[in-house]
Amino acid sequence: MRRCAIFEEYVAGKSIEEVKEELGLEKVVKLASNENPYGPSPKVFEVLRNFSDLHRYPNPEYKELREKLSDYTGWEMQRIVVGAGIDGILETIFKVAIDEGDEVVIPMPTFQYYRILARLHCARDVIVGRDENFQISEKIFEKLNERTKLVIIPFPNNPTGNVERKKLVEEIVNSTKAIVFIDEAYVEFADSKLDIDADNLIVARTMSKAFALANLRIGYAKLPKWLISYYKSASTPFPISSLAEKCAISALEDLDWTRSCVEKIRRERERVYEELKKIVKVYPSQANFLFFESRKGLAESLLKKGVIIRDCKSFGLEGYRVTIGKPEEDDFFLEKLKEVL
Ligand code: PMP
Repeated sequence: MRRCAIFEEYVAGKSIEEVKEELGLEKVVKLASNENPYGPSPKVFEVLRNFSDLHRYPNPEYKELREKLSDYTGWEMQRIVVGAGIDGILETIFKVAIDEGDEVVIPMPTFQYYRILARLHCARDVIVGRDENFQISEKIFEKLNERTKLVIIPFPNNPTGNVERKKLVEEIVNSTKAIVFIDEAYVEFADSKLDIDADNLIVARTMSKAFALANLRIGYAKLPKWLISYYKSASTPFPISSLAEKCAISALEDLDWTRSCVEKIRRERERVYEELKKIVKVYPSQANFLFFESRKGLAESLLKKGVIIRDCKSFGLEGYRVTIGKPEEDDFFLEKLKEVL
């Protein structure tokens, strides 16, 4: 093993089948992985049924998908790369940009995979805190120096659901030569977008959340022009399958479906927020989940009742993250929560 080989595994949420089997339950609701409960556009299932090129390698340019993504985002097509989820894009960026000893600035608490990647690449993970609303502390400016290679900014953040002030993000981007990586995995659920550009800025998005294609592993990012050939040299040759590409294209051709899912989830988020506010300390969210504080061991108690939520211990936070599901799933969660509290 390399000196930096892993010490800590990424912990994914438990599946419905696992919980049913382990606890002998008939009804289990999973609100732990920030998935879109409505699934993708029906047009995607037509593509799946009609796909026959399983024996062929994909075309590594992914031109049609990048064109569609360019229409969707307004980003220049030449600057768009695709990868196996934002996870895959992050991996490639670390592979191409991070040398041993480089500093990677990570505002904690946040998605754990950033830190795992930093440590795997023998980088120094420089942790910066957040204020009482989980916004990135101004102390971040003290952490930026000539060894800083990468700064991560999730917008919105996981698991807290908040966004950052645009002015702060712009100041960060302007005050460092390091690459700033804005992770917009949940941006479709937010009220506002950052919409900034710079020569040291990467903006990454995914089709796992709003587009409900988590299992197909499709992420994409806007890179500065100078970085593209470096990125390509480090990426695996065929990061996504052409089946995934075709499904993504059909989802992008049916934006009404995604927009209506996002609308339903945003409305439901406000309803669940109001309900939770009556019984626990819950934080406002711009994503498809809510973060709340409550007594220790709550996730285990709910699991026994057939509700899977995320205990945020692994994020270094005392609290819980619940994904917004369909109204009937959320009602089941709220009912069981009232029972166990
Ligand atoms: N970024 C954040 C903030 C996330 O929460 C997640 C998924 N949990 C990802 C990236 C990874 O998303 P993808 O499915 O595109 O790899």
